[in-house]
Amino acid sequence: MKILVPVKRVVDFNVKVRVKADGSGVDTANVKMSMNPFDEIAVEEAVRLKEKGIATEIIAVSCGLPACQETLRTALALGADRAILITTDVELQPLAVAKLLKAIVDREAPQLAILGKQAIDDDANQTGQMLAALLGWPQATFASKLDIADGRATVKREVDGGTESIEMALPAVVTTDLRLNEPRYATLPNIMKAKKKPLETITPAALGVDVTPRLKTLKVVEPAKRKGGGRVADVKELVAKLRTEAKVIG
Ligand code: AMP
Repeated sequence: MKILVPVKRVVDFNVKVRVKADGSGVDTANVKMSMNPFDEIAVEEAVRLKEKGIATEIIAVSCGLPACQETLRTALALGADRAILITTDVELQPLAVAKLLKAIVDREAPQLAILGKQAIDDDANQTGQMLAALLGWPQATFASKLDIADGRATVKREVDGGTESIEMALPAVVTTDLRLNEPRYATLPNIMKAKKKPLETITPAALGVDVTPRLKTLKVVEPAKRKGGGRVADVKELVAKLRTEAKVIG
């Protein structure tokens, strides 16, 4: 069984994000970029399925600038077998990514696509769902446990107030939640080996996909700076401040 794992290159989760002076977006110049953390979990899950003998091949895909190659090399070092870079300098929105991934699914015929539940840069939480819709495949989002047997996937999902267990026929789309697994680190020998693994580069046009943005970003602003806190002498003063300053009680 082939598994497709889409991996996105995003601003590293440790970086304090800065907004560009003209408010047109987030500044990514000279900023550390990494694989989206939920996609690391997706790669790890695919690798575990391969180690169990359930998966035979793991294909990592990234869509975006040529620098996404680095993200793909990381996926290869973590255990993916080969990689596909769909390169464009157009700003990609979730629907465009889903269409590109569908084109790759049509070509590669995987039985499972494991995506992150969301990319930590745009927090869209859309691509997996859109991909499932375009393919007409069942989907299990926010997975915290995944079992594959007899052509079916059993998935525990994180929902408000607990977990939900669902079963679906393959091929299917799964998106990862934090508790699915703890990703391994790439070892130096595997990083070296990853340099020799196949990485194909292709354009959206070659896949016949129009990636023109459909949404326009009007303005990006930083959250308002938090004001410093203060001390109150007693409960009476606290209640007075809640009433007159914070206006959260009547
Ligand atoms: P989003 O819908 O943008 O929150 O992204 C959800 C998931 O879709 C990510 O965790 C990735 O698995 C996948 N994805 C989104 N954008 C890309 C991209 N440019 N390249 C590869 N995978 C992507």
